[in-house]
Amino acid sequence: MLAASLLAMSLSGDTSVDRLKATVTHLASYHTRNTSSPELLQAANWMADQYRQIPGLQVELMPYHISKSRRIPEDKEVVQVLARLPGKDDRILLVGGHLDSINLRGDVFTGRAPGANDDASGAALALEIARVMSRRKWQHTLVFVAFTGEEQGLLGSTALAQRAAKEGWKIDAVLSNDMVGNSRTNDGQHDSRHVRVFSDSPDASGKNPQRSRELARFIEWQARERGTSNRVRLVLRRDRYGRGGDHTPFNENGFNAVRFTDVFEEYARQHTDQDLPQFVDWGYLARNAQVNMVALESLADAGPPPTELKLDLRQSHDTTLTWHATAGTSYTVYWRETASAVWEQSRKVGATDQVTLKGISKDDYFFAVGAEGGIPVPL
Ligand SMILES: [Zn+2]
Repeated sequence: MLAASLLAMSLSGDTSVDRLKATVTHLASYHTRNTSSPELLQAANWMADQYRQIPGLQVELMPYHISKSRRIPEDKEVVQVLARLPGKDDRILLVGGHLDSINLRGDVFTGRAPGANDDASGAALALEIARVMSRRKWQHTLVFVAFTGEEQGLLGSTALAQRAAKEGWKIDAVLSNDMVGNSRTNDGQHDSRHVRVFSDSPDASGKNPQRSRELARFIEWQARERGTSNRVRLVLRRDRYGRGGDHTPFNENGFNAVRFTDVFEEYARQHTDQDLPQFVDWGYLARNAQVNMVALESLADAGPPPTELKLDLRQSHDTTLTWHATAGTSYTVYWRETASAVWEQSRKVGATDQVTLKGISKDDYFFAVGAEGGIPVPL
């Protein structure tokens, strides 16, 4: 009951299967969306027009340069699509998928590449979230992205992450959705109720300190707490073996960024002329959009994270946590057994700078404190 009523407060129920299907079907109708192809610009212009039809969005075709390489026939200026929904402040949440596609079985440059699941599904998901979330004003700014150059080596996301770092964008979270509409393999494996969220470990060098794993853990917790139909399966790795995604350049520039991907990929269709809309599970894609959206809704209104977290180390049967609080911000405390990867308990503690958890031994748990709705900060 509680979960159902919490979800009812979310806009995510307005996610439209029909609109997702229309977007993916249109994008898959281009012969290819290879970043070097003339169709890429057509698809990008079409995508930009879709965003322009949404009231309140500022749309940009962001140009960047790609250089001749194995998968690029010539040096070229290309574009990707950014749409910004300004909030009351300049903290940013970014959600995207990649617009480009590729055929790696036929001719790389000219082969038919419908790319319905990889990754019209992710690009369509971001557009659908923009349509729904633009209906109200959020505290923070939302940026929706249709990346390009992904299949040539994360070129568009690298260009954007470097630009964001250079321009000092205050990005709290990047949600990259890459292949989020396939629920079935040719072998009959099936899962239409979970989505994988990959997250890299914090940079041990300290050069690019990001908390992507805490973002991922928060998304998993939020989906459970809000009772979304699809649940998160955390994968505590950067990405799949030997493969990459648009979240990684953001990690490398010090931003929290995770990758959403369906549980079962079908390798026989990926990067071929068979990555077609008929294989997309539309309900599954819509439910994955909802998981993104409940996380974004929460993060988009969250106060600033607590700082100077401390654990009282004196011997006690209770656990006392203190932190530096910001006036007017309410906090939530989280804890879990040390062998658990997901938050097991949480408590809203209000606008305070400390809490004592009675009967909870600090020796047996991991703890975190977050501004209500924000990414928890681990101790
Ligand atoms: Zn992809």
